[in-house]
Amino acid sequence: MQPTVFFSQKLPREAEERERALSRLCPGKLCLAGQVHGETILYADHNYTARAGDALYTDLPGVFVGVKTADCVPVLLTSRAAAAAVHAGWRGTARRIAEKTARLLCETYRLSPEEITAHIGPCICQTCYETDGEVAEALGPEAAAYIARRGAKFHPDLRAVNAHWLRNMGLRDIRVSPDCTRCLADVYWSHRAHGSGRGVQVSWAGDG
Ligand SMILES: [Zn+2]
Repeated sequence: MQPTVFFSQKLPREAEERERALSRLCPGKLCLAGQVHGETILYADHNYTARAGDALYTDLPGVFVGVKTADCVPVLLTSRAAAAAVHAGWRGTARRIAEKTARLLCETYRLSPEEITAHIGPCICQTCYETDGEVAEALGPEAAAYIARRGAKFHPDLRAVNAHWLRNMGLRDIRVSPDCTRCLADVYWSHRAHGSGRGVQVSWAGDG
């Protein structure tokens, strides 16, 4: 396998239009998960139909695994054997879903962590991401270096926390997009900027 990655900008809000845009952009079968802020990792093949989960992986050319986001962190993992797409909001980040997916690829395909490349896509930046103590507490003491405090509010740097977990498990090639979905709300959908009427970006990895 020689997986490539793709990060979309704003896609049409309307579902049918979005489907059409995605089928134009993606060169194979695009598999997306239900995304429930959990830690279920699903395998995708040519017969995959959407199920509840927050990470998908595949080892099949022509199958692309993707993630929908609009402030949450999209993490794509690529290697010679498999590709994965991970949805990491604060809950997924706290549950270390990107790290768990990378570990699963290592175990399943006998890869060493250095053989996996991580691509962390556009998401909300630390300045724009203001939360209460609940999020900081869930992320735990190891993430404290990546959380700024302003008065009663906390500003976690979710992409840095995800990169930290991955680096800690041994990944060496971690590529982080500098784009913030909220700072660049003209280009990307942002839950914080556009509210519940927002659309999504889709990011995917695969070979085909
Ligand atoms: Zn920002």
